[in-house]
Amino acid sequence: MPANKKLLVLPGDGIGPEVMREVRRVINWMDRRRAVSFDITEDLVGGASIDAHGVPITERALQRALEADAVLFGAVGGPQWNAAGFDKRPELAILRLRGELGLFANLRPAIVYGPLVEASTLKAEVVRGLNLMIVRESTGGIYFGSPRGIETLPDGTRRGINTEVYTTPEIERVARVAFELARKRQSRLCSVEKSNVMESGLLWRQTVQALGDDEYPDVALSHLYADNCAMQLVRNPRQFDVIVTSNLFGDLLSDLASMLTGSLGMLPSATLGQPDATGRRHALYEPIHGSAPDIAGKGVANPLAQILSFAMLLRYSFGMEEDAVLIERACVNVLANGLRTPDIMAPDCAKVGTQVMGEAVERELDKLAA
Ligand code: NAD
Repeated sequence: MPANKKLLVLPGDGIGPEVMREVRRVINWMDRRRAVSFDITEDLVGGASIDAHGVPITERALQRALEADAVLFGAVGGPQWNAAGFDKRPELAILRLRGELGLFANLRPAIVYGPLVEASTLKAEVVRGLNLMIVRESTGGIYFGSPRGIETLPDGTRRGINTEVYTTPEIERVARVAFELARKRQSRLCSVEKSNVMESGLLWRQTVQALGDDEYPDVALSHLYADNCAMQLVRNPRQFDVIVTSNLFGDLLSDLASMLTGSLGMLPSATLGQPDATGRRHALYEPIHGSAPDIAGKGVANPLAQILSFAMLLRYSFGMEEDAVLIERACVNVLANGLRTPDIMAPDCAKVGTQVMGEAVERELDKLAA
């Protein structure tokens, strides 16, 4: 008997626990109908952990994350914890998890689902069928480089410093993730930097090109400056398959790309670590939205981003492509049937809450698996 798949579930704050409940419905369905069992441990994170233990994440929860095959994360934060010092903010839990698990590649798909094409602020003909993936380096670059700080100069003026710094191994490992992904998609990769004005960008371009030449000649590799990429994403986003870029540019471009889809409640993400000798890697999956304190507890949050994050988990941590696709299809079918949570409400659709949306996904799964 193969060992069960070990999952750590961290629902967090605000709408986190509400949307996670609907994922548990999907997990139970898989247990029943697909005979796939998960060993699930659940723990507190964020404000909930601060209230119970005084810290955004406990050593026990971190240890559980290290032992798990994958972590499914909800969202953290809320106004009641904003007054706490910076070292007590709920959001620190995410940084600690990323650091401890060595999660360096952040994957953000931007997919426009047919029934939601009108939700984008761009014209339907520009975004229809959009399906791109941004791979953002997430542990290096200017957010972590030194020197950094604010200093006072002899003349009394002040100077703020941050340093963009990348080594070839850092660039290669994230580029490798992107090349491998591209291979499983349309075999097109666009590497993004500012090699025209930044030495770290030039090294980035040279390193990605060399890796492509040596190991991935079958993937069509192109390069763009980050400012041009921002423009192209709005002008003609469907030209892209996979984009790989640094922490800073990825931060901006992935937010831009996600809004091409027009709906925060629909967007999953994954953050992956380095595979070990057996191919096992740490990974964390979470919706890109936050804890949405304005709607928490009202039962109206859209659970689809959290459910789609679970589909990514099946695909990237367990290679369960068929099951991932099944869940994604079920979500699209629910939308095609005209069900909408308030955040994606459209004319002639039926407005439903979190639980009804989750139940509808389960019904669609039943139909698809029949
Ligand atoms: P947010 O994503 O929580 O909410 C932004 C807006 O989108 C709100 O109006 C909210 O109601 C709506 N929204 C978000 N998710 C939704 C969903 N699933 N269904 C329906 N509507 C949804 O961002 P914010 O308001 O800037 O931040 C709120 C808190 O969340 C802050 O404490 C912030 O630090 C935290 N945050 C956490 C994460 C994370 O845990 N990874 C990410 C972003 C923000």
